[in-house]
Amino acid sequence: MPEAEGRASLGALLDGAPCGFVSFADDGTITVANATMAEMLGYGRGELEGRRIESLMGVGARIFYQTHFFPLVRLHGRAEEIFLLLRHREGAEVGVLANAVRHERGGAWANDCVFLRVTERRKFEDELLRARRAADEARAQAEAARALAEAQGAELREANDMLEAQALELELHHQQLQEQAAEMEVQAEELSAVNLELIERTEEADRQRDAAEEANRAKSSFLAVMSHELRTPLNAIAGYVQLLEMGIHGPVTAAQLEALGRVERSQKHLLRLINEVLNLARIEAGHVEYMLENVRVPELLEAVWPLVEPQLAERGLSYAAEAGSRLVMRADREKVQQILINLLSNAIKFTPAGGRITVEAHARDDAPGVVFLRVADTGIGIPQDKQGSVFEPFVQVDMSRTRRSQGTGLGLSISRDLARGMGGDLRVRSEEGRGSTFTLSLPAAGAASAD
Ligand code: ADP
Repeated sequence: MPEAEGRASLGALLDGAPCGFVSFADDGTITVANATMAEMLGYGRGELEGRRIESLMGVGARIFYQTHFFPLVRLHGRAEEIFLLLRHREGAEVGVLANAVRHERGGAWANDCVFLRVTERRKFEDELLRARRAADEARAQAEAARALAEAQGAELREANDMLEAQALELELHHQQLQEQAAEMEVQAEELSAVNLELIERTEEADRQRDAAEEANRAKSSFLAVMSHELRTPLNAIAGYVQLLEMGIHGPVTAAQLEALGRVERSQKHLLRLINEVLNLARIEAGHVEYMLENVRVPELLEAVWPLVEPQLAERGLSYAAEAGSRLVMRADREKVQQILINLLSNAIKFTPAGGRITVEAHARDDAPGVVFLRVADTGIGIPQDKQGSVFEPFVQVDMSRTRRSQGTGLGLSISRDLARGMGGDLRVRSEEGRGSTFTLSLPAAGAASAD
């Protein structure tokens, strides 16, 4: 085959080769490019010759070409399977594997390159890239997770420390509570011991009270019996004295008469005393019965008047009684009379001549259902410190004046017991040298039901 023909068919072969072919000078100017190459990058036939090889590359590939690819080819005279990203005329990237050899041709260096398109490899590379990115991301996430875990760990440790401290505190608290509980148990035991002692003491007090009550009852019945036994011989004494005074047993001298008079007075005093002791003993022993009835106060005062009138006149005392006609009390008539006579006798006894005695009855709004009966005198009065004790048996303020008045010291005691026995009371208010006021209070019967 002739040489020209042969070259033409070689050119056709080169154009039809299944890979791009480019030959470029050291300054990068493309001298030869086959059709496959032109087509691969979107150029027409012959359009690549004269261009510079770098113009077929993107920025990254161009830098790689200048710093690695071309120096490698120049140094070693060849390069194999170098991956390059060329640029399509429209701008798209075209990945190729380049093999290059360097020859001296016609006195100049020629760099011949074949470019094999590697779409698959690109794909793998992309995937590799993606995988690497994913791995990087995963690593970053793992890192973040680890940092988070570390932070959480620190937080957890802190929380744990706190919990441990709290547990310690709780333990301490628990111990304290246990100690307190133990203390309280001891206190409870002490309390129960005290309680037991209290119960014992209460029982003892009850026993003593019962014994005292029993003794009191025994004393009262003893007094009742004794008083009774004493009255009989006393009455006999009175009888025999009277017989002597009457001269039944022969004439009596004036001196004997006077002596008999003293015996008689003493006998009377003794009898009164015994009578009153008997009275008090019977009240205290609970042997007194109260016959309650409606007692009109004015009637009561009228009934008492004749009994005290002679003494009043004898002592030269003025007297006034005042009571609303509607005042009615629920009481034992005889016993109220007894109280009233006793109060009036005292008033007469302890009020000097010219004095005044008043009896007055009234009801009070602040004490409904109660009738008050007041006996007031302008007599010698009772010292403040004695006012509480005059109601005690045998208490007399001043023995000398009492002796003068022949008292027994039992009247007020009996009167107050009787008043209380009827659901009332007896109180005193007095001012020494100015007089005394005794107030008897008794339940009211109510005007409507008065008989
Ligand atoms: P008695 O009058 O028999 O001594 P009472 O029990 O009636 O006994 O009175 C006790 C004492 O109270 C009297 O001895 C007297 O000292 C005093 N007393 C009672 N009533 C009056 C009164 N109206 N004024 C002054 N003292 C009084």
